[in-house]
Amino acid sequence: MKAKDSLVRIAFLALFLFLTIRGKMALWLLLFALSLPVALLFGRLYCGYACPIHTIMRPVSALARKRGWQKDSAPRFLSAVYLPWVALALSIASTVFARKALQINLPILPFWIAAGALTVLRFRPEVFHNAICPFGALQKTFGRFARRSKQVDPVACISCGLCEKACQADAIHLTGPDHTATVNISLCHQCSSCSIACPKDAIAHKKRLPEK
Ligand code: SF4
Ligand code: SF4
Repeated sequence: MKAKDSLVRIAFLALFLFLTIRGKMALWLLLFALSLPVALLFGRLYCGYACPIHTIMRPVSALARKRGWQKDSAPRFLSAVYLPWVALALSIASTVFARKALQINLPILPFWIAAGALTVLRFRPEVFHNAICPFGALQKTFGRFARRSKQVDPVACISCGLCEKACQADAIHLTGPDHTATVNISLCHQCSSCSIACPKDAIAHKKRLPEK
């Protein structure tokens, strides 16, 4: 499962590199646009499997964690909810300006790949995913309405917390009086790291039940 997930990410990264080299970035942006209605149905699959920023961040983050470079806390300004929207507005404005005024295509996605990789050298990945990424801002907006998502079977959960540790998006926590794991759907990348880590097979991608 883990190997299959990695292969899917590598395949999307190869496609991204191919389109970048061929100057067809518009096709990638089309794929991103199509991923938004997909997020309404199945959650943020783009973030979990297709996003080149995420795919590059994963090994960089693993290295930084192993070397002890990552801090547990992040500066307070990174908790501002509007930050990803500012990043999105600046990305769009600078891309349009460069295209219209300077007749050049800004390498906006490579820029954000570098920003993501640099961020995880110092901070945990959720800092970039939840507090910086402009693409994540849009995915979050659509993903929170997902009809299907990763969900925890509260009867099977033994509150071991392994899923919390495995999640790179800060999207699953032990909550409630029983300390059972609960997924925050808007933050969840549907990446399966939690279900792979779960010793009880308590996490699955399934239809959401109406909220009580
Ligand atoms: S909750 Fe699970 S599927 Fe969702 S982002 Fe975290 S590890 Fe991935
Ligand atoms: S890893 Fe599985 S059993 Fe452990 S807290 Fe998470 S959902 Fe529950």
